[in-house]
Amino acid sequence: MSTHPLPTKPKQTPAVNESAVQKIDIALPPDAVREIVTHTQDDDERMWMPRGDNVWTRPLMFNVVQGSWVNLTRAKGEAIVSRHRHPAPVTGYTLEGSWGYLEHEWTAKAGTFIFEPAGETHTLVVRPDEGHMLVLFHNFGPLLHVDADGTVVGYEDVFTRLAKVRAHFRKVGLGDAFVDEMIR
Ligand code: FE
Repeated sequence: MSTHPLPTKPKQTPAVNESAVQKIDIALPPDAVREIVTHTQDDDERMWMPRGDNVWTRPLMFNVVQGSWVNLTRAKGEAIVSRHRHPAPVTGYTLEGSWGYLEHEWTAKAGTFIFEPAGETHTLVVRPDEGHMLVLFHNFGPLLHVDADGTVVGYEDVFTRLAKVRAHFRKVGLGDAFVDEMIR
């Protein structure tokens, strides 16, 4: 009987095929716009625009062609975002804490993904159980602020949001160039 161990395959790190990497570069359409790369772990407080009592937003991307935008929403303590309707969908991914809507039973925790179809109308609440939240939201279109009867009392679209963001970043000294980098 043989006592030789079974042959094992040598562990190898696959070599990077440099010509394939180059081909990917070359394959980019010439009219494609530049990517946006944002490292939010390096943020300081100036990046966070106040959006109400205990609520802040950290803009990440504005699509002025399709009217959509992406942002982080952060709340600390007890917080509320007044009732509004979304005529276009929204997606949200919870990074930290817990939160929900007055109009729904569920509570989102870290790792909870939500898809809000067009027509969704809600009031965002952060309750004291965890006492904070951090959520990545993608707004596919404007939102309408509504009163208790559902009557529209105001609206926000990519342009009104951009105007507020510009005012904020001018005020904190980061300026318009910082905002321009988020627009495609
Ligand atoms: Fe909403």
